[in-house]
Amino acid sequence: MKYYILFGPPGAGKGTQAGAMVQNFHLCHISTGELLRSEIAAGTPLGLQAKSLIEAGELVPDEVVEGMIEAKFDAVKDVEGFLLDGFPRTVAQAEALDAMLAKRGEEVTAVVSIMIPDEMIHERIRHRAEIEGRADDARDEVVSNRIKTYHDKTEPLIGFYNPAGKYHEIDGTGTIETVRNRIFNLMNNF
Ligand code: AMP
Repeated sequence: MKYYILFGPPGAGKGTQAGAMVQNFHLCHISTGELLRSEIAAGTPLGLQAKSLIEAGELVPDEVVEGMIEAKFDAVKDVEGFLLDGFPRTVAQAEALDAMLAKRGEEVTAVVSIMIPDEMIHERIRHRAEIEGRADDARDEVVSNRIKTYHDKTEPLIGFYNPAGKYHEIDGTGTIETVRNRIFNLMNNF
């Protein structure tokens, strides 16, 4: 099994690229953000707990997303691997993922990081707000808090995966097709 992590700041294009990646490499796409948004839409207790945090641009507790990921690993069969999108987002989540995979005799295959300059993040998210209507895209101060959360809590993951040679950065600027080709060229190596 391959275990890819799709990494990058909010608005880098992770969701946009994920569809082609899972199709081409026969992966199961697990987006913790999407799973949480479905819990909110369904009005579950977990959704209620997550809603105010997401709408403030804060992270939900590590145990919540870790449980979601493990449940998917247990349930999904008949794929060649997984594409983790939006997880891990903290070093504690990365450590929990390593432990989950070790239990299965597996390990992270590669981190595919889509990088865009900070000044492009706001512009991309403003554009997405018009198309998708996500509540956490609509307010500038929430977007700014998500970017801050990314720098403070998620960016340290680069230092976590780099020493093991697992961190691979892709230039996320340019057309959707150009970025997709860069990603495919990288993933063909694994
Ligand atoms: P995303 O769709 O990946 O941008 O996620 C939207 C929001 O869901 C984030 O801003 C967080 O509030 C929450 N979220 C998604 N994934 C995680 C995660 N791995 N850990 C904590 N919170 C998360």
